[in-house]
Amino acid sequence: MHIKGGTFGPVATNTYVVADRPGGSAAIVDPALGSQSWIEQTLARMDVTPVAVIDTHGHWDHVVENYLWTERGLPVWAHPADADWIAAPAPFNPALFGNPPPVPGADIAVELTEGDTATIGDLELKVIETPGHSPGCVVLLDEASGTAVVGDLVFAQGIGRTDFPRSDPGAMLRSLDRVFSELPGETPIHPGHGPWGTTLAEAERFARVFM
Ligand SMILES: [Zn+2]
Repeated sequence: MHIKGGTFGPVATNTYVVADRPGGSAAIVDPALGSQSWIEQTLARMDVTPVAVIDTHGHWDHVVENYLWTERGLPVWAHPADADWIAAPAPFNPALFGNPPPVPGADIAVELTEGDTATIGDLELKVIETPGHSPGCVVLLDEASGTAVVGDLVFAQGIGRTDFPRSDPGAMLRSLDRVFSELPGETPIHPGHGPWGTTLAEAERFARVFM
């Protein structure tokens, strides 16, 4: 998997472009506020054609610019449990996000659920449901390269918040336990906030403090 990341918006959300190979196909993961021109430049630099937008979950900061890509004909792939937030992006926590203007939402064209494979050209991403931070959180695992996009499940030095509407702290613990036990510790992780590229084992040391 070829992956490039950038950080955008009021809560420093990570947007990724994942691709199968130079000259191949790509997915835009979590198009954050202000990410569009970086995405365009990154697609051009990687010489890849976008085939989908993938949302790791439905929180506003991860889905706010879906519409800029659906307007160009790209489908949104995401877990159905966060479909309403993706259909009507809204920051539910003004203290965090301020009061940004409303943006159009998007319908989920392809539902990503447990065991599905998100296929982007030659790239096959295994979908692992990881509810807790939100009901529709997913981890995308590229088994071929041993790389994971983990959304707001786990960060380099912490875990996703579980004090938001529809968060579930118990489900979060089960999701974390599952990922730490099922994925190899050397898996590089690409989270929704903060640095990427640290291993899952390194992240687990910090995550355990919160578990
Ligand atoms: Zn989130």
